[in-house]
Amino acid sequence: MRVVSGIQTTGNLHLGNYLGAIKQWVAMQDQGECLFFLADLHALTGNVSPQELANSTIEMAATLIAAGIDDRSTLFNQARVPAHAELCWILNGTARMGWLNRMTQWKDKAGKNREGASVGLFTYPVLQAADVLVYKATHVPVGEDQKQHLELARDIAAKFNTDFGVELFPLPEPFISKAAPRIMSLRDGSAKMSKSDPSDMSRINLSDSDETIAQKFRKAKTDPEPLPDVFDALDARPEAKNLVTIFAALSDRDPQSVVDEFAGKGFGAFKPALADLAVAVLGPVRERLVKLLDDRGAVAAELARGAAKANALAAPTLKAAQQAVGLQV
Ligand code: ATP
Ligand code: MG
Repeated sequence: MRVVSGIQTTGNLHLGNYLGAIKQWVAMQDQGECLFFLADLHALTGNVSPQELANSTIEMAATLIAAGIDDRSTLFNQARVPAHAELCWILNGTARMGWLNRMTQWKDKAGKNREGASVGLFTYPVLQAADVLVYKATHVPVGEDQKQHLELARDIAAKFNTDFGVELFPLPEPFISKAAPRIMSLRDGSAKMSKSDPSDMSRINLSDSDETIAQKFRKAKTDPEPLPDVFDALDARPEAKNLVTIFAALSDRDPQSVVDEFAGKGFGAFKPALADLAVAVLGPVRERLVKLLDDRGAVAAELARGAAKANALAAPTLKAAQQAVGLQV
């Protein structure tokens, strides 16, 4: 099994990213060969300033290391492995406009202003396809929001293999971990916790202090009812359900066992317990992060080491793709 996954380098990482993606990545390191990258090329499709992009790449790399991504994995930033962009260009010849036009993320992010959207935003899923195909990834951890892009990567791989009569790209499988929860905003149980939410109170950032974490949970939206004795009874109470989901994910427990413990108790009792748990899990990650950020050069060196390994793995696939299409390189 070869696992490949990336995270876009914009904004601050939050609890949703941690429980929904990073924690899964850390666990996967025991299950197969893992390549994780900071998607700095993808970040160029939005409005990110050069300074912000440079800082964010190092900060996110440090966050991943602080969270437990270690030498078992290859960690690098996409821009240091030119094969991603080179293969993307080749695959731009395979992908069809109609396929990309159907991508819901494109429709959402471009909105009504398609004429004003960047071309990069449109071909973003082709670069994502290149990101995984260049390593012949067998498994790609994806959230619900990225499933359509992985389907597209499979379509591109299949069409390339057929058009050029090669068996170059295996079709990557989604790796959906049952344990990966979808974490919602602390202010609105119907919106996901997100970097781009303008309200900082809606999310727990991985850089938040213990006091801030506790305060954000204290102020999280809930209802006056006590916790029920079955988890499913929370379906009609999204904010309450979200807090129980967070508790369960942070403690690696089943949500029902959390409800068993707190049944009949109100949020006056539950929230402080949740805050203590979150501080116990996230505090040490933040402390490691702060130390790592004292020496940004060392983090950059770590990324360079990862890129050297990634370049070596990507080179033969890129070469084979170039040969298949008749490029003289
Ligand atoms: P943006 O709002 O800019 O899209 P984001 O918070 O959604 O940012 P991404 O960089 O898009 O973050 O996602 C990184 C990873 O974190 C993806 O694997 C995504 O599925 C996961 N993820 C993001 N938000 C959540 C969430 N609220 N709950 C669980 N997983 C999440
Ligand atoms: Mg997102």
